[in-house]
Amino acid sequence: MKKRTKIVATIGPASDSLEAITGLMRAGVNVFRLNFSHETHEYHSEVFARIKKASGNTGLVTGILQDISGPKVRICMLEEDFILKTGDHIEFMKKEILGHKVSEGRYALCINEPKILDQLSLGEYIYMYDGIIRAVVSEVNQESVVVRVENDGMLSSRKGVNFPNTSLGIDVLTTKDKKDMLWGIENGVDFMAISFVQSAKDMLEARAIIDKHHAKVELLAKIEKFDAVENIDEILDVSDGIMVARGDLGIEVPFHEVPAIQKMLIRKANSQSKPVITATQMMLSMTTKETATRAEISDVANAVFDGTDAVMLSEESAIGKHPILTVKTMVKTIQGAEKHYPYHKFSNFEMIDKVDKIDESAARLAESLHTAGLIAVTGSGQSAKKLARYRPDIPIYAVTHDDSTARLLTLVWGVVPAFSVEERALRDMMSEVMQQGVEKGILDKEKIYILTAGDPVGISGSTNLIRVISKYEIEYFLERNKELNHDHSID
Ligand code: PGA
Ligand code: MN
Repeated sequence: MKKRTKIVATIGPASDSLEAITGLMRAGVNVFRLNFSHETHEYHSEVFARIKKASGNTGLVTGILQDISGPKVRICMLEEDFILKTGDHIEFMKKEILGHKVSEGRYALCINEPKILDQLSLGEYIYMYDGIIRAVVSEVNQESVVVRVENDGMLSSRKGVNFPNTSLGIDVLTTKDKKDMLWGIENGVDFMAISFVQSAKDMLEARAIIDKHHAKVELLAKIEKFDAVENIDEILDVSDGIMVARGDLGIEVPFHEVPAIQKMLIRKANSQSKPVITATQMMLSMTTKETATRAEISDVANAVFDGTDAVMLSEESAIGKHPILTVKTMVKTIQGAEKHYPYHKFSNFEMIDKVDKIDESAARLAESLHTAGLIAVTGSGQSAKKLARYRPDIPIYAVTHDDSTARLLTLVWGVVPAFSVEERALRDMMSEVMQQGVEKGILDKEKIYILTAGDPVGISGSTNLIRVISKYEIEYFLERNKELNHDHSID
């Protein structure tokens, strides 16, 4: 069977050609990530066009995720690399300077978001260069903050800085982010991931921009700050999905907490039927090597067992030597895990609305009748997501009236965006669903299926119908379709 867990792959210099994108798509990538921490709008526009072209050529439905870089704090340019020793002091200046060595064991530099320095207190930790250099605040002055370095290491220009103990006190959407979001809205990306979110307010600010432009974009919150973990319930309430952004998260919270936080985040997202991506360093060694480590294979498989909707590749596919081989390795790993997957998760989910109860019944019925697939006729995609929450062991075929809804389902576990039908009276739609289902090799007359839909059609969140489809129904509707088409040809 096809894999159920989805793959998100970041496009970069190693994978931005039409050929590479096509190869990744055929290998099993469902969603392409454009990382707006790098490159220009022109670059991303070209990649965007190539993804659309590859999708058209292959007939594979794929989504596009725009990753908004957020207030990534970085140190300024340095005159020369700092060779730091434990006990050295670095003075973080509030004014702009060129970073330099002041005297033996003492350095001065500045950062791109100097306002954060006002939020720091004595004894708080800061981390530089992906957490490699740890320092503690030892002096807070009018013009600067001094930190004492706690381990040896080298620091070079523009490396990242993390403040795990400190609420940033700056807007999570920078001026650049807002411009980037307008690019995403104009081009029609399917998902936007917002970085360094701290509270629901940050997501609502992003939502206001989307709403103002009447865009159909799903907003994902990247959980990579201590505060985001604390505020996960309110953040999840106002987000369409989340990303377990383990790269920064592992610096912002103690690294040994990350596996348990991953499980907690996935469980909460699953229970709200919202997609969750597990990200960063999943197969990092394949950036340079042709095989993944045993630990990486286990990490991908364990994310699948945790219930993630998707696993993500960053450097591996963006700048790595073997993007396609990495995806193939990931696919095999996912399939291996899915052979032993705990399907039919029916326990302890909150029933938020009526549709939850209807979809639970549909998923249970699909299991007890040993059906070959669930067919969700869905306008918004909501009922396909709600069915996926129960992790059935059969495909969930989403039949939509709208291509953008189909693309939004590329991120959701187990959902196959199968085809679209014109929105009309349910009986007529059923005929078309059967016709296309048989033609596309999705429906087999010898098997049983469960179909869910809302009738009358066209009202979002109105799923109110469960229908068992077998040979008799398929033949009836195919016959009816012939008559319908015949009538048309007479007109
Ligand atoms: P990034 O986010 O790659 O944009 O930093 C993911 C992460 O932090 O894990
Ligand atoms: Mn990050």
